[in-house]
Amino acid sequence: MSEKLNVVKNFISMRYFKKFKTRDKLEKYQKKMLLKQMKYIKENSEYFKNIKADSIEDFKDLPLMDKKVMMENFNKLNCVGIDRDKALEIAINGEKSRNFDEKLNNISVGLSSGTSGARGLFIISDKERELWAGGVLAKFLPKGNILGHKIAFFLRADNNLYETIDSKAIKFRYFDIMKDMNENIKTLNEYQPTIIVAPPSVLLILAEAQENKKINVNPIKIISVAEVLTDEDADYFKKVFGLKIIHQAYQCTEGFLGYVCECGNFHINEDVIYVEKEYIDKERFVPIITDFLRKSQPIIRYRLNDILVEDKEKCSCGSPTMVIKKIEGREDDIFIFNGIKGKEITVFPDFISRCVIYANGIRNYKVVQENKDSITIYLDNMNEQIKKQIRSEFNTLAERMKFLCPKISFEKYEFNLARKMKRVERKK
Ligand SMILES: [Zn+2]
Repeated sequence: MSEKLNVVKNFISMRYFKKFKTRDKLEKYQKKMLLKQMKYIKENSEYFKNIKADSIEDFKDLPLMDKKVMMENFNKLNCVGIDRDKALEIAINGEKSRNFDEKLNNISVGLSSGTSGARGLFIISDKERELWAGGVLAKFLPKGNILGHKIAFFLRADNNLYETIDSKAIKFRYFDIMKDMNENIKTLNEYQPTIIVAPPSVLLILAEAQENKKINVNPIKIISVAEVLTDEDADYFKKVFGLKIIHQAYQCTEGFLGYVCECGNFHINEDVIYVEKEYIDKERFVPIITDFLRKSQPIIRYRLNDILVEDKEKCSCGSPTMVIKKIEGREDDIFIFNGIKGKEITVFPDFISRCVIYANGIRNYKVVQENKDSITIYLDNMNEQIKKQIRSEFNTLAERMKFLCPKISFEKYEFNLARKMKRVERKK
């Protein structure tokens, strides 16, 4: 009971009080919180015990980290004395049995559904969980009537993080993607959610079911999570469900990083995290994030593997936090081709997608690069005309960017909900 009360307290605080009217005020707050966090980790994390934490100037000298550093130094890094192998065992057991209640010293354990091999392990205390739930609600419950919502949450792996929200005022139902999707669709139709939270791959199935009149649900809000949402898919969902905006949550192992506001713009949660930008071209950058609230597993100068596209416009919703145009994909999935003059040429996922979606009648596709001179394109709708069109788009791109056009093969697209959907992927 007290847990729910805390969520409500945090919700109210985040929604109504921790709002910054100006950029200046936000930055001052960030500096204060960063310094506080630096002092905290110096005292509580063995990994950081030798850092300097006297002033905010010392921040730029802190070591950078990423998923690899995090996993290799897990035991030293975390501030609650949790052993990596023990935590992994609990998380893996939870996924196998689909029972996610086991905790370690009141700490919940989860695995990120990350890409091959490098799965991230995250731990979160009850208190952080309440903060998280309050923050999510503050950012996503629609304006005005905040009570009486029925949230449907589709996810690949649960952890008890998500059950924190369930209460009398707000109903919450978890749908396990790994279970029979026809059953899920039926249950969803009976449940009649007001808010649906799901990855784009699931939203595609729901939208098709709605289009074919297998279900009739009327959510007032759809929040896309866990996978990259392309503009085409977003447009399709808007059309089928009659919505103006498809919201997104930028939520990963490393925290709740961003959301789409009521104006439809993608904000980074700078009231919780500090972001440094590592530019990879004029407008694209890889974010390096520092969470100034996480106490059990510090996320400090953590380099994510994402490509974000900057937006210079200010948002009219009133929040002075950073706005991005979109998450374009993973840095690992930038394609690499042989240049005409020998040098390697890198091509961002967006350019690859565009070569495919310019062909008419394409909804589901995936482009995989196996090596520098061959790619495979998976399509759900294929004929000679479409293939010809796509080949010609790639030729044009290759000419323009001066790389040797790869050999292109075509295969049938198959839905596979067990894996994260990616439209553009480079095989390692
Ligand atoms: Zn906004």
